[in-house]
Amino acid sequence: MPVTGDKGEQVRELQRQLAAARFDPGPVDGVYGPLTRGAVARLQRYCGLAADGIAGPLTLQALALLLPHRPQPGRRLSPHFAEAEFACRCCGMVRVNIRLVHMLEALRARLGGRPVIVTSGYRCPAHNRAVGGARMSQHLYGNAADIIVAAAAPHDAAAAKNEAPGTSSGWLMEYITERGGFAYLPPDKVADAAEALGYPGVGRYPGFTHVDVRPNGRARWSG
Ligand SMILES: [Zn+2]
Repeated sequence: MPVTGDKGEQVRELQRQLAAARFDPGPVDGVYGPLTRGAVARLQRYCGLAADGIAGPLTLQALALLLPHRPQPGRRLSPHFAEAEFACRCCGMVRVNIRLVHMLEALRARLGGRPVIVTSGYRCPAHNRAVGGARMSQHLYGNAADIIVAAAAPHDAAAAKNEAPGTSSGWLMEYITERGGFAYLPPDKVADAAEALGYPGVGRYPGFTHVDVRPNGRARWSG
């Protein structure tokens, strides 16, 4: 792995990828100097990684995931999320910020380990236009997911019915909505959990919840 002081083709490739992902490393000269180190640190902050400026395996993986590519069949990015789940629905390409994946795992855990279903992850520019997405939509950068959350596995649902309202599984049962034969958590409950976890972007919609890890500022809206 390339580190400060290194020279050569490996560093050049790192610099090319940093430039392609808009983390300006200065000239692509194959020298791992202060500019490259600074670009790596900015990338790391963007991806929620420790910003030490060292291009270790996790950092290189996070960088590669930010660039448009074809998902590898069966590849998991975390225990409960596969790379392909974030792929563009029109062209199959994917970009994904690993910070989004980590925050989706946290959201899943907070919601009692219920399956989080990504209905829209990365959108290529053509697909984003086709679905009427915002011009600077976080979906374009792999920072956003529209999600629905399964209410409960059948055996959980049976157990939760016997619990008093006000307990965590009690409120889940109170608010379960039926959609297409599957029970989903109400999107507002998912949005509340995302806000409690400090997601930078949370959008409330009638049938789903938008969450994102935008790098600057905070956004809350209803659509
Ligand atoms: Zn597409």
